[in-house]
Amino acid sequence: MAEEEMKVIIGLEVHCQLDTKSKLFCGCSADFRADAPNTHVCPVCLGLPGALPVLNKKAIEYALKVAKALNCTIPEEGEFCRKNYFYPDLVKAYQITMGDNPLALGGYIEIEDDAGNPKTVNLTRIHVEEDPGRLVHMGNKERGHYTLVDYNRSGIPLIEMVTEPELSSPKEARRLLNKLRATLEYLDVFDPEKEGSIRVDANISIQGHERVEIKNISSYKGVEKALTFEITRQKNLIRRGGTIVRETRHFQEGKGTTTSARSKETATDYRYFPEPDLPVIRVADWVKDIILPELPDARRDRFMQQYGIAVNHARTLTGDLRLAEFYESVADVGPAIAASWIADILIGELNYRDMALGTVASHTSEFKDLIVLVRDKKITDKAGVEVLRVWLDDLHAGTKKETPAQIVERLGLARESGESFRGIVEQILAANPQAVADHKAGKKGALNFIVGQVMKETKGKSDPREIHAMIAELVGE
Ligand code: ZN
Ligand code: MN
Repeated sequence: MAEEEMKVIIGLEVHCQLDTKSKLFCGCSADFRADAPNTHVCPVCLGLPGALPVLNKKAIEYALKVAKALNCTIPEEGEFCRKNYFYPDLVKAYQITMGDNPLALGGYIEIEDDAGNPKTVNLTRIHVEEDPGRLVHMGNKERGHYTLVDYNRSGIPLIEMVTEPELSSPKEARRLLNKLRATLEYLDVFDPEKEGSIRVDANISIQGHERVEIKNISSYKGVEKALTFEITRQKNLIRRGGTIVRETRHFQEGKGTTTSARSKETATDYRYFPEPDLPVIRVADWVKDIILPELPDARRDRFMQQYGIAVNHARTLTGDLRLAEFYESVADVGPAIAASWIADILIGELNYRDMALGTVASHTSEFKDLIVLVRDKKITDKAGVEVLRVWLDDLHAGTKKETPAQIVERLGLARESGESFRGIVEQILAANPQAVADHKAGKKGALNFIVGQVMKETKGKSDPREIHAMIAELVGE
């Protein structure tokens, strides 16, 4: 089968922890990560005999916010049910989840496809369920292989979102998750910084062949990597005339590969039945009281309107709530220059250092001073980046004592007018007669070579446009 006929089909099941104070069916604190194992537990979340679940309304309210923000249809009633299976992390040998009557149906998320065009990805449903405990595997296969169980996570509220199989590439899957994360953050119902707060199962197939499910991928990068590996594996197998079997596979984060786990269960294996200890929830009355905040797409459109910035900048800046807020606190130095310094320069420098935006946000006025130095032509763009790097290095190391202006002063980066470089320009022209001749002969690149030599000699303190003009004048154009 030809490459272009191998169409990739991907659907996701995304589990996100709702950032409530207490668990879904008991009063145990959901803020457990800093505490010792099995210290946030009670008879309900340990599944002791006779313990009864009491629904945390906040979790339902949060889930309804998500459903409304993702354009879902919300039926009048939702019903919890039991999904039966045994696993050591599941204390009751069943999970309280939702079956035929979930909280929300349909809905969609808007992303861009790999060509940059808008694409709507439809959702199948959203429901609420409890998180199982956490298993910690100790030792290795040869020696001391055993598993510890921590029930602090048992009963943490989750929303499970299922997309239709409409994604066509690992990058699209990544963009969908980024959009989802941004939306949940804007809604203030989810904390993406918490370890394990999002887990993804991905269904993937090549059109015309069986599908494979990859279970429990716990990072955004992991989803893209697992899908990329799996597409290659399936395509190679098909090319060699093999058959894709319907199965569940696990993703090995470290190796970036997937391995076969077991054949896929079907819904009937779980013997779903209505949860007798919880009433049907009537959500119709709650829904109309839910007021949504400004969401990422609306904010992107507002940024373009209000600040006159380009769509790619607006999209980047609104893709993360904290980044959007930071931009708005900086924009008064000049919306365009602020957008480009944050989206094109700062983000990359932060990623390179693995630094959080918060560190810079707590020194916003100094960051603005730096942009103003560039805006007012006190330093060149190139010098500005150099100052930013020194400033960030110091902030990151916790040794910051200098303001951007002081760094400019110490490193002697203040921009000087082109005239003060006339001597240097003349020297370089004299030293490169061939390049001058090439330039006069209209050879492309010759002028850039000369300008580059001057920039190097003046250590970024000169403005390339001024140097261009001066060279043009000196070579007599
Ligand atoms: Zn509990
Ligand atoms: Mn689930």
